[in-house]
Amino acid sequence: MSTKIDLQGQVAYITGGSRGIGLACARKLAEAGAHVAICSRTNNEANQKLAEDISSNFNVESLAIACDVGNADEVKSAFKLVQKTFGRLDVFVNNAGIMETGLLPMTSAAAIRSTMDTNVTGSLLNLQMAAKLMSRKGRGSIINLSSIVGRYGAEGQVAYSTSKAAIIGMTSAAAKELAPQGIRVNAVAPGFIDTDLLSDFDQQQRDDVITSIKLGRMGQAEEVANSVLFLASDMASYVTGETLGVDGGMVI
Ligand code: NAP
Repeated sequence: MSTKIDLQGQVAYITGGSRGIGLACARKLAEAGAHVAICSRTNNEANQKLAEDISSNFNVESLAIACDVGNADEVKSAFKLVQKTFGRLDVFVNNAGIMETGLLPMTSAAAIRSTMDTNVTGSLLNLQMAAKLMSRKGRGSIINLSSIVGRYGAEGQVAYSTSKAAIIGMTSAAAKELAPQGIRVNAVAPGFIDTDLLSDFDQQQRDDVITSIKLGRMGQAEEVANSVLFLASDMASYVTGETLGVDGGMVI
């Protein structure tokens, strides 16, 4: 097998692909030759432009979709559109997610529900649809976005930590169920990555978190995308059910 990752002719769908880690994954997978579809809740001109830029920069086809990952009807329509446009799905990056912060007593029922709707129900609904499409071809790779806090928990992020722990269970269970259909399911568990998700963190808070990271810096979205590319590719052909930390040696 060549050590160059080549996804020419393959199709990748990335939820939450309009910015941050999702957009970095879309660019990375396109750079490797895959046609890409991205979704976010809004399908505005900016998202269309992002998709067009990916097409022209990497000479692949692209599609921008409006879909709330927690809405079952919208999820079905999004996958139908991917199937209609590209006729196949090889790689699915289950990335869209939100983070509600707050200590346990301050975490409202509404915050718990919205976190679970997007991060847990949304990820599961999308996983179901991706597996259904991939099973037609008898192969595929699904990469779910967990988090270091899903493994170890973080103070002030109890709802978010709960949701990201669920992704690890979902990954292990789905990997077992889908292996006979030739579909691998893995997760990445990023640490502290410089994206809009952390826009509420001021510089002092960032510096405090960085003291817990052995590599001494925040991670970049592209560094997560590199791991996603590996798991998407045949370089990881014997890896399934795994959760890969991408955290610079963070200790929480
Ligand atoms: P981000 O910069 O806030 O981007 C989130 C993306 O998800 C956006 O494209 C957003 O677009 C989309 N999105 C949010 N809710 C959605 C919904 N209900 N339906 C469809 N799209 C939705 O976040 P990020 O840092 O890239 O995070 C990506 C994933 O990595 C998340 O699952 C997050 O939990 C995980 N993660 C991030 C970090 C970190 O340090 N950044 C660490 C560990 C894990 P719209 O708002 O336009 O819908």
